[in-house]
Amino acid sequence: MHESAMIDSFVQIIEDKVKEYPVKKVTKIKLKVGKLTCLCPGTLAACFETVAQEKDLLKDTVLEIEEVPLKAKCKECGQVFLVEENKFFCPFCQHPHIQIVAGRELFIETVEVE
Ligand SMILES: [Zn+2]
Repeated sequence: MHESAMIDSFVQIIEDKVKEYPVKKVTKIKLKVGKLTCLCPGTLAACFETVAQEKDLLKDTVLEIEEVPLKAKCKECGQVFLVEENKFFCPFCQHPHIQIVAGRELFIETVEVE
């Protein structure tokens, strides 16, 4: 359900935006979705397809979803590393003082139109 709410609001944003221009259709949308958002790219794509079918603007739109891996920086040794499966500590010095630097992303990166 979370995914479908996200797609609804993204579609709303895109529709509002393209209204300002003489756009015939949206050809491609690129989303960036961080791992920490817990949104499933497959579900997002499926939700988008359902919504897009009913919109002339979005009927032939290719949705590209880029998943951003969860990355953290160790506050102790300064290393940046990928966080695997909830291991929230530094793999280099085992320190638990880490700061999330990537993975919270959730935005529309590009919209291509015709
Ligand atoms: Zn460290």
